[in-house]
Amino acid sequence: MTIWNLGGINADYVYSVPHIPAPGETLDAASREVFLGGKGANMSVAAARAGAHVCHIGAIGNDGRWAIDRLTEYGVDTRTITTVETETAHALIFVAPDGENGIVVYPGANRAIPESTLKQSLTSAKIGDWFITQNEVNLQIEGAKLVKEMGLNVAYAAAPFDADATLQMLPYLDFLILNEVEAEQLKAATGQGPTDLPVKDVVVTLGSKGATLFGEQGEAHVPSHDVTPVDTTGAGDTFTGYVIAGLDRGQPILQAMQTAAKAAAIMVTRHGTADVIPSLADVRAFSG
Ligand code: ATP
Repeated sequence: MTIWNLGGINADYVYSVPHIPAPGETLDAASREVFLGGKGANMSVAAARAGAHVCHIGAIGNDGRWAIDRLTEYGVDTRTITTVETETAHALIFVAPDGENGIVVYPGANRAIPESTLKQSLTSAKIGDWFITQNEVNLQIEGAKLVKEMGLNVAYAAAPFDADATLQMLPYLDFLILNEVEAEQLKAATGQGPTDLPVKDVVVTLGSKGATLFGEQGEAHVPSHDVTPVDTTGAGDTFTGYVIAGLDRGQPILQAMQTAAKAAAIMVTRHGTADVIPSLADVRAFSG
């Protein structure tokens, strides 16, 4: 089957700074690194590294050809990414020595995906395929509605959190994933906890405390693995990509979550984002 991921593609510029700049302050960065990022791109790479056929639906600007090359290198089908007349999205990520960070995202092409790209991309989608999206892009609600009508399974990572978008997405969802903070924000905004939502499977990830499934058959917990984290960026996206790849392969959700927990544990021991997401072979060799 195919996973259709309507998602963001970012250039992540990571600057090492002595501290997060205060208002009016100018600082020198000690170093700058550039990574492929964006929750969407990370999830596509994770699902592809887990062995799934992933078509990424999205947009870049004329400055984003490198991102297509990188996604292709990692096994993502990029024929459904279009080039638009605005810049590729980027994130400025300031990281202080104590690990504190400050991030500014310029959404650019991620929020300029033409409706025609979405519709044309999905013409070869089949009943039973998975569609996944997040909040970095435009058209996520239109996309979810369209694919539900076509008989696809719909997954949604409610991040970056947006209460209105999440509420509008709920009627179309088979799978919802939130981290602990997003689950609290949803509860605060709507009064609904994970068990109140009209979605078959809801997963709340809890960082080093693992992940809890609120599913049709009740609640189940998948613990995390004991590793020494060096960089937790992208752990959640890796977890999500691996879970959807498992579901796409027909695995029971708890089994998919167990594999995802291993992939995410490996991920937190590595610096970087999409470029360092582990392959299924790495995950199978992981003994933690
Ligand atoms: P991020 O925004 O950093 O990508 P997130 O907040 O979306 O992450 P988390 O809940 O932090 O998601 O983590 C997702 C999964 O990754 C967890 O359920 C767990 O399996 C794994 N994980 C995260 N942090 C750790 C850790 N310190 N040690 C082991 N596993 C971890």
